[in-house]
Amino acid sequence: AARAAGPVAGWTPSDAPRTLAGLGASPGLAIGPIHVLAAQDLTVPDEPEPLTSGADRLHRALAATGDQLRALADDTERRLGKADAGIFRAQGELIADTDLITLACQGMVEGHGVAFAWNAAVERMAARLSALGNPVLAARAADLRDIGRRVLAQIDPALRGGHDLPDVPCLLIAPDLAPSDTAGLDPARVIGLATAQGGPTSHTAILARTLGIPAMVAGGARLLALENGTRAILDGTTGRLYLDPSESDLAAAGLWQVRQRERAEAEARERARPAETRDGHRVAVGANVNTPEQVPLALDQGAEGVGLMRTEFLFLERGDTPSEDDQYETYSGMLTALGGRPLIVRTLDIGGDKQVAHLHLPKEENPFLGVRGARLLLRRPDLLEPQLRALYRAARDRIPADAPTGKAAPLSIMMPMITSVPEVLKLRAICERIRAEVGAPPVPLGLMIEVPAAAIQADVLARHCDFFSIGTNDLTQYALAIDRQNPELAPEADSLHPAVLRLIHMTCEGAARHGCFVGVCGGIAGDPFGACLLAGLGVDELSMTPRDLPGVKARLRASDMAELRALAVRACEQEDAAAVRALDTPIATGA
Ligand code: PEP
Ligand code: MG
Repeated sequence: AARAAGPVAGWTPSDAPRTLAGLGASPGLAIGPIHVLAAQDLTVPDEPEPLTSGADRLHRALAATGDQLRALADDTERRLGKADAGIFRAQGELIADTDLITLACQGMVEGHGVAFAWNAAVERMAARLSALGNPVLAARAADLRDIGRRVLAQIDPALRGGHDLPDVPCLLIAPDLAPSDTAGLDPARVIGLATAQGGPTSHTAILARTLGIPAMVAGGARLLALENGTRAILDGTTGRLYLDPSESDLAAAGLWQVRQRERAEAEARERARPAETRDGHRVAVGANVNTPEQVPLALDQGAEGVGLMRTEFLFLERGDTPSEDDQYETYSGMLTALGGRPLIVRTLDIGGDKQVAHLHLPKEENPFLGVRGARLLLRRPDLLEPQLRALYRAARDRIPADAPTGKAAPLSIMMPMITSVPEVLKLRAICERIRAEVGAPPVPLGLMIEVPAAAIQADVLARHCDFFSIGTNDLTQYALAIDRQNPELAPEADSLHPAVLRLIHMTCEGAARHGCFVGVCGGIAGDPFGACLLAGLGVDELSMTPRDLPGVKARLRASDMAELRALAVRACEQEDAAAVRALDTPIATGA
C-alpha cells in the first residue's frame, strides 16, 4: 500500500480501472493484451552416473556456457552498448565461482546425478543470497539462477526451458525475468513488461530502459493470477498496471502516447540548440558517459561535454585492475573523442553499491557508511596514484597549450564522496605532487557533494577546490537515510524532497561566495522538472544520461530564469516531495 503512494506523474486514467501498483522501472506507456509467463517449475531428475563422467560433463557444460555468455556479451555490446554487455561478462565470472562448483561436486560425490547436483548447488547459493534481504545480492541471485539454467541446458538439452510468446504485441508478465531473457526481448513483440518480483535497480530494469520498453517491477504475486489476453495499460513511469480500462481511457492513453511521441520528436529536432532560458540565462549541459565509444552518441544528443565519467567501470567490467597505461589510453581516447569539449573524470568511487570482487576489500557491516570513495582512495595509494598519473599524462600529452582553462578546460579531475576539509587537503597535495612529477599543466580539481556534511560546509570546502558536482543519488540516500538500492523504499527516495533541495541550495550559496562553479550529475539532473528546480537553485551545469538531454534542454528553453528562481524558493518551503512535485505545472515552468 505504501507503494501506491509514490509520486504520480504523466498519464492518469479518468474512469478508475482496477489497478495493480508496483515500482516504475522503465518509463512510458504501453497498451495491449496481457501475456503471463507461467513460473517454470523445472523438475530436474536425479540420474546418478560414475563420478568421473559426471565431472567431465559438468566441466564441458561450464565451458560451453562460458562461450555462450561471451557471445551474448558481444552481441549485447553491439546492440545495446558496453555497460549492458557488462552484465553478461559479470555472469561469466559467476560460473567460475569455486564455492559453487565445489558444492555441485560434493553433491555428485554423495551419489547424485550431475544435473541434479548442479541445480541443487545453484538453488542453495541463490537462496542464501536472497535470504540476506539485500536487494543487490537478491539481484545476484537472479543472475545466478539465470546462468544455472544455461548450464543445465548444456548438461541435458531436455532441461532447456523455453517461452512461447503470442503472435500479437503483448504486455509480458512474469515472476521475474532473467537478464538474458530481457536482453533477448523483441520490442516489436513485447511492448511492455511487468514482473512480480525484482527491483528498479535490477539488471532486468536496466536492460528494459535501454531497450525503451516501459516496465514495472515488484508488482507482487497478484500479477501472475491475471488472465491471458486481458486488455491493460502499463505505465512504466509510475509503476501501475490498469486492467480492463474503459474505451475512453484507452483512447486517452493512445492520444497521450501520440503526444509524447510528437513531443519527443520535436525535442529531438532541437537537441543541438543550447539550454538557454527565454530571458537569456544559459545552463551548461553534459552527459554522463564512461567510454570513448559512447561519446559520439552523447554529442549527437546535444551534450556540450562530459560532466561525469565514472571510472569504476574500468575495474568492474574486467577481472583485474587496469594498468596505468590502460587507463592512460582510455582517458586519452575520451579527450580525443571530445575534441576539446570539457571532460570531468571522477577518480575511483568504489564501495557502497560499487563492489569490485577482485580488490578483495574487507566486508563491512554498512558499506555505504564505510570505506568508500575518497576514504578508500586515501587508504589505497596503489589505486589512486596510477589513476592520477594516467590522468595527468593524458593532460600533458593531449591538451594543447592554448586550450581554455577554468570551467571550460578540456579535462577536470573530480573526487567522490568528500566529507571533510582534511580529506580534500590530502588529496590536493597528492594531485599536486603527481602533476609536478609528470610535468603536466594545472588541471581543475572538483569535489563531489554527496554527503550532507559537505553540503552544509560547502562555503568552507569551496576555498579548496575549483568546482563542485552534486551527486544527488547519494546526497538523497544520506539525507533521507534511505538505502538507494532498497526497492521497498524507492518511492520515498525522491531527490526532490525539500530537505535535499535545501542542501543543494546551501551548496550553491557556499560555492557562490568563492566563485566556485556548481554542477549536478545525479539522476535528478535528467528529469525536466528537476532540472528546472536545480537551475532555479543556482546550479550552473547539469550532466545526465544522453537520452535525457533533448527533453531537459527543451524544458529549460521554454522557461524563464526569474520564474525558476521563484519556483526553487517555493519548492524549498514545501512540506514534502509530493508537494514539490505538485508544483510541476506547465504554468509554473513555462512549458
Ligand atoms: C550520485 O551519487 O548522484 C552520483 C552521480 O554518483 P553515483 O551514482 O555514481 O554514486
Ligand atoms: Mg555517488
